[in-house]
Amino acid sequence: MDGVVVGPEAASISIFDRGFLYGDSIYEVLRTYSGVPFELEAHLERLFGSGRRLGLTIPADRAQLAEETRKTHEASGNADSYLRLMVTRGAGRVGLDPALATAPRRIVIAIPVDEMRPGPAVYEDGVEVSLVGVRRNLRDAIDPQAKTGNYLNSVLALAEAKAAGAYEAIMLDHRDQITEGASSNVFLVAGGVLVTPPLEAGILMGVTRAVVLRLAKEAGIRVLELPLNAGAFAQAEEVFITSSIREIVPVVRVDGVAVGDGRPGPVVRALRAAFAGYVARVVAAGGK
Ligand code: PMP
Repeated sequence: MDGVVVGPEAASISIFDRGFLYGDSIYEVLRTYSGVPFELEAHLERLFGSGRRLGLTIPADRAQLAEETRKTHEASGNADSYLRLMVTRGAGRVGLDPALATAPRRIVIAIPVDEMRPGPAVYEDGVEVSLVGVRRNLRDAIDPQAKTGNYLNSVLALAEAKAAGAYEAIMLDHRDQITEGASSNVFLVAGGVLVTPPLEAGILMGVTRAVVLRLAKEAGIRVLELPLNAGAFAQAEEVFITSSIREIVPVVRVDGVAVGDGRPGPVVRALRAAFAGYVARVVAAGGK
């Protein structure tokens, strides 16, 4: 907390903290592979972008946050960590005005990554997603490009998907265009082309999404960032979701309807292999 390593029992925050009161905070989630924080620079870049969008000044520079992230992982003793970087606007007199808090706090949480990752069946068999009724926040309301501590939009979407027996929610916008998952980006393969909604669709700029787009292009797969309507899944040969902890997860059913032959397809399997290769190269280079 604020650069000091403390155990979970000692780590506490005021009930007057605006992260608690209003979700007035920002965060990032990443993981280590062989102790190396994966795509740390990209996550820090996005964190600072979220801060700018909220007018929240992060009380440390990138090098300091990178150092504190590494230090937290090392102090945890975890073989590999799920790492959560949070910056909250801090505590102050109760009231909406952000000027009531003047001392933002920064927190890094390290949890053994194995407690947070899905089991092998998710990757071998694929999962079901549900197109939920909860719409993605409008860009003009709370821009999904800011990763804020106010996650109710996603919380409610995931609850709806779980109630329908699905693993993840896919949210549409107010015009019935596909945006993203509750905590993942979504891709589909149609006519052999890899398609995902553009950032303008009102989505988080996923770090894994960017890695997958790059690896797909390198593998000679045609890639398009295109607006997709809800019906697009019916035409898809393959669907998958991406996130930092889950990496690339094959989707084999959308609301009970099989995607393709209902098994993880060749493109998602090739991209999972390419992703593993990239992770190995990053680790071998020591994260550089
Ligand atoms: N969209 C949302 C809404 C998310 O919460 C996440 C998880 N951070 C993602 C997409 C995937 O982003 P990333 O690949 O950077 O983890």
